[in-house]
Amino acid sequence: DAALVWFRRDLRHTDHAALYHALKNARRVWCAFVLDTDILDALPRQDRRVPFILDSLAELDTALGGLKHGAGLIVRHGSALKELPRLAAELGVQAVYANHDDDPAALARDAAVRGKLSDLGAALYTTKDCVIFERNEVLTGNDTPYGVFTPYKNAWLRKLDPFYVKPYPVSRHAEHLAAIPAKVAASPRVPALQDIGFEPCGELKVPAGMSGAEALLDDFLPRLDRYDKTRDFPGVKGPSYLSTHLRFGTVSIRHLAGLAWEHAQKGSRGAQVWLSELIWRDFYHQVLFHHPHVVGHAYKREYDRIKWRRGKEAEADFKAWCEGRTGYPLVDAAMRQINQTGYMHNRLRMVVASFLVKDLGIDWRRGEAYFAEQLLDFDLAANNGGWQWAASTGCDAQPYFRIFNPVSQSEKFDTQGKFIRRYVPELAALPDRALHAPWQARPAELPEGFVLGRDYPKPIVAHDEARAQTLERYAVVKTPT
Ligand code: FAD
Repeated sequence: DAALVWFRRDLRHTDHAALYHALKNARRVWCAFVLDTDILDALPRQDRRVPFILDSLAELDTALGGLKHGAGLIVRHGSALKELPRLAAELGVQAVYANHDDDPAALARDAAVRGKLSDLGAALYTTKDCVIFERNEVLTGNDTPYGVFTPYKNAWLRKLDPFYVKPYPVSRHAEHLAAIPAKVAASPRVPALQDIGFEPCGELKVPAGMSGAEALLDDFLPRLDRYDKTRDFPGVKGPSYLSTHLRFGTVSIRHLAGLAWEHAQKGSRGAQVWLSELIWRDFYHQVLFHHPHVVGHAYKREYDRIKWRRGKEAEADFKAWCEGRTGYPLVDAAMRQINQTGYMHNRLRMVVASFLVKDLGIDWRRGEAYFAEQLLDFDLAANNGGWQWAASTGCDAQPYFRIFNPVSQSEKFDTQGKFIRRYVPELAALPDRALHAPWQARPAELPEGFVLGRDYPKPIVAHDEARAQTLERYAVVKTPT
């Protein structure tokens, strides 16, 4: 009769699977979010994601009140393992509804919460929400998970029908939302950043909440048809910038995939390619679900035999990579973008990942962890998938002998240096020809007074030499143990 909806990576009040099911099945429904100290305690105090979450929670609280007067979001701060069962007991609910989160740590947390709830006589019901197809929904003819993207994508597209992109009509049973008893919620309901031990991190570059997602989508839709042509150029406003919203569920994947599909069916090439990117997202989610060993290990296990560079010099190179001081302008611009904004363009994620692993010979897990700390859109499945793709250790990855050349990538995808000049202003006065590899410029091409090694670093590695070493390093995967 009474139920609680536990929000996690789904911070919206429309087209929400768990909320819909709870409202349909129970006559009194409360909504809650736990600021989980088991996750938050490990984050830097100026983590950008925390203000994004708090702003999104505030908007969700108001929106739930708009569905039914007196309703809203109960926010608790503490370990979810304790807080969630405690709240369920205080409210006397028999059922808790939540959407699937297939990260291994989240699955373990949910199993523990389920056990505690059952001790209280309550059940935890979970359901698909954050992808179009999850877990075992798209399998090969032999009922095994796909390890190669293109056949997965074809099977995904064959299975898609309007049912899977239909929104959950939450407002149909909104009258079942219950007013929040004063004793279970703090006031104000959503705490301030400082109240949970975090500090401001400057202006957020991605607008938060459902309204932020809507604004980005409105801005993107007129560009959708051109996405295929613009998506690879970091100096151009090509992609949607919706990844953070997909991560926190401030937009529904069904809504986005439905739009992409509709335009794709009308023949929009841009929409077809964008839909394909959304399918990559489902692909990596099912990879993580079926192969949780990818957290910390190569998908292709023999690649764990590779010996990565270690020691003082490698540490100094890693630091230079993190700080955008490698001497390769496109790599440095990209790393400064992630450091300053919490976002990095997809093409550049591939370039800098390849550079760390195949030019500097540093373990992909170090780069993965750095991205996990910096990215507003950090998503374990996509980040791990992207890193393992670039490092050639993953499923359907780049072959190990394909090594991005950071200079030709720069010439090809930032030809006029628009992106480089934005993030590496000390190179702004260099002519386009010299911008991509300043160490190769003739003295006459450099602005007066510009000294390489003083005003901008010399390259910390020679790409051609590194290439040869990488081929040697990866050769171990061919030798039997
Ligand atoms: P758009 O081009 O507008 O694409 C739309 C959406 O499709 C994205 O928002 C995202 O949800 C999804 N998508 C696009 N490309 C991919 C992809 N290759 N894999 C999975 N999903 C994809 N994406 C994340 O969301 N979180 C991460 O932590 C993350 N880490 C990455 C690390 C590396 C090394 C690489 C190579 C890629 C990573 N990606 C990650 C994928 C991709 O770079 C981002 O999703 C994309 O740049 C986000 O920008 P956008 O929203 O403008 O994308």
